[in-house]
Amino acid sequence: MLEEVHVPPLSLDAYGAIAGEDAIAEIRRLAEPLRGARVLHVNATKFGGGVAEILPTLTGLLRDVGLQPEWRLMPGDDSFWNVTKLMHNGLQGMDVALEAERRQIYERTSRRLATAFEGTYDYVVVHDPQPAALRSLRSEAPGRWIWRCHIDLTAANPDVWGFLRPLVEAYDAAIFTLPDYVKPDLRLDVLAFIPPSIDPLSPKNMPLAPALVDDVLHRLGVDPQRPLLLQVSRFDPWKDPQGVIDVYRAVKRTIPDVQLALVGSMASDDPEGWEIYRDVVRYADDDPDITILTNLDGVGALEVNAFQRAADLVLQKSLREGFGLTVSEALWKGVPVVGGRVGGIPMQIGEGIGGRLVTTNDEATEACLELLADADLRQRLGEAGRERVRRNFLSTRNLRDDLALFNALRLGDAALVPTGQVV
Ligand code: UDP
Repeated sequence: MLEEVHVPPLSLDAYGAIAGEDAIAEIRRLAEPLRGARVLHVNATKFGGGVAEILPTLTGLLRDVGLQPEWRLMPGDDSFWNVTKLMHNGLQGMDVALEAERRQIYERTSRRLATAFEGTYDYVVVHDPQPAALRSLRSEAPGRWIWRCHIDLTAANPDVWGFLRPLVEAYDAAIFTLPDYVKPDLRLDVLAFIPPSIDPLSPKNMPLAPALVDDVLHRLGVDPQRPLLLQVSRFDPWKDPQGVIDVYRAVKRTIPDVQLALVGSMASDDPEGWEIYRDVVRYADDDPDITILTNLDGVGALEVNAFQRAADLVLQKSLREGFGLTVSEALWKGVPVVGGRVGGIPMQIGEGIGGRLVTTNDEATEACLELLADADLRQRLGEAGRERVRRNFLSTRNLRDDLALFNALRLGDAALVPTGQVV
């Protein structure tokens, strides 16, 4: 059987004060006809990256509203994770080659996954390309099968997409973050649009006392009294960590005491991480005002929370970004974000809301200088950003949409399929 990730129970009622009692009542109404339904989430890793961040909360809340959820991991080894990271890069538009040997590695691990899969479920949600072949290899298994794509496929490499497409077409439905991400040649009856979400009560996002925030930063070598730019991201070329350092250096010419923290966890399914980490350390060139930390330095959810609260500005000038949970995480703390005008970031940052959208390093530098000089503006943007997150990007909205999709599939009612409207 696939390895299960056990998650502690959660209480939906605890979210009422933040999400609103109407939202809680709607979730309960949608969950009622699904009472007892067995739901399986399958993904590649329990640690690192956005999917591992979302699933504990969704699983815990599904259980609280009366369903029987499980979260399980697919098997894999380095050769497989190398191939799937290459596929991930290809799907984000990189010019990569998926040669026969790589396809065989993918297919071999997919067969192990299919053999290890046991049990019967009413709804199976399979996340991203790594376990995507499961449905085509277990097409007789009962239940409704949903492929959840967290990636921006807009510029997908045709070779990689061509390999993945038939695997995806074996599902009953797919979930994308944005309609733009759907390739025109995908033949699938049900397409749902559901942005991901953050959990406002998790250690990553819960309120922290200012003294604790200062203490955490101090212990990790950052001066909480001086201006701080922050990027929280896996070490990944698409997150452009070198670009972030360039912007920090340009800002430092005007604001000499500015500091930069780059906080990046290592995901078990991302073998590229260490290589990029070493490149970034080299690029930082022993600058005493650049702090580079990973989970191996003891930076867990609470420390990330403290960094996001302490930052004057968060930088997320990714070159490609399916959604970018780190943007919502910062905005939830009222901290504005200078974000790349790509993928899911413009859903979170708008005119007068949440920060500035940028395309070039020069634009990012200009936005940082403008915002660092104006604390009132930062506060206004941060507050508007927090409200946008509250309305659109919390776990409760994600749970509501997932339940709506389950009901849509159960009843065959297209009108119930979530459309991902941001309000
Ligand atoms: N993250 C973390 N520690 C780190 C770096 C990242 O906990 O050192 C978390 C981050 O807070 C966020 C997730 O990993 O919750 C990254 O999700 P996002 O959607 O931003 O990017 P992805 O990694 O999925 O591309």
